Amino acid sequence: MTTHPHRQVIIIGSGPAGLTAAVYVARASLAPLVIEGEPSSTSDQPGGQLMLTTEVENFPGFPEGVQGPELMQRMRDQAARFGAEYLTEKATKVDFSSHPRRVWVREDEYTADVVIVSTGARSLMLGLPDETRLIGHGVSTCATCDGFFFRGQEIVVVGGGDSAIEEASFLTKFASKVTIVHRRDKFRASKIMQERALSNPKISVRWNSQVTRLIGDSKLSAIELTDTVTGATDTMNIGGLFVAIGHRPNTDLFTGILDMDDNGYLVTQPGSSRTNIPGIFACGDVQDHTYRQAITAAGSGCMAAIDAERWLEHHHTTANK
Ligand code: NAP
Repeated sequence: MTTHPHRQVIIIGSGPAGLTAAVYVARASLAPLVIEGEPSSTSDQPGGQLMLTTEVENFPGFPEGVQGPELMQRMRDQAARFGAEYLTEKATKVDFSSHPRRVWVREDEYTADVVIVSTGARSLMLGLPDETRLIGHGVSTCATCDGFFFRGQEIVVVGGGDSAIEEASFLTKFASKVTIVHRRDKFRASKIMQERALSNPKISVRWNSQVTRLIGDSKLSAIELTDTVTGATDTMNIGGLFVAIGHRPNTDLFTGILDMDDNGYLVTQPGSSRTNIPGIFACGDVQDHTYRQAITAAGSGCMAAIDAERWLEHHHTTANK
């Protein structure tokens, strides 16, 4: 086991929230260590969910749009310029029960006065071959982010919960037609949202159906559907597929340590990034199941950095100064 020099701030996670926190913390001369995740992982890779998108058109400051991975690289470089350091691995264990706070990466132990948690969330996926390859090429998990790219096209949304209904309704602004594919004959979504969607002339529903194959080389062009009752299959030509079968926050590391809501999202005190443990802050999608945007994650990363600086000032820590 190796123990590393003590730091004032460790940031776990490197999406827009973690990297914005890193820019602010580094600019305050606090030299954060960012444990940024593992490149091989699709759920919590360095850079977060934006590494799985192509063009981002709604992040302010990029009038021509910017590729998701480029945006994350720029944020990473910006924090590095002010002294942030990166560890391209996953945190494997934490102990916040005493001071200093302890974070492990496999057998290596890192200590800090303050920890900012920005481990994000992941969209649940269908688990089909080619699904990851086609994300950003006709397959999406975010209507707000990508709907605009599917103007005038026929789109399928998979799922039967509030997310699927909400995404389908939103997508009718752009698509010529939206088909909701649901594996059962009843939605799980709230009645009022169902009624709104079902009365929309652009939305139709394909009940008792699963998407079982994605077809397309460089871009999705069709899907195979299998009837969950009869087993019959057919093919549907479409411009885009939105997978809306739920999200999971990346919070396994904090089970029994940080307060979570029923869906496993970290709970922060209203108007702040404070968790239930003093000196542990949370930002981005790991604590936000409502907005889930790069810009809101970045904003909450800024909040966490400012909360962390104030906490350190108040507690007069001296390490790493
Ligand atoms: P959810 O309620 O868990 O629904 C997931 C849906 O996806 C279910 O219909 C499920 O089918 C289906 N599904 C799951 N795995 C699947 C698979 N492998 N293949 C095909 N279908 C699959 O998730 P959610 O819709 O994201 O909602 C999460 C929470 O956020 C809920 O509490 C919801 O009310 C809330 N929410 C609220 C709003 C709003 O109020 N505006 C908007 C979005 C979300 P089954 O039904 O067969 O299980």
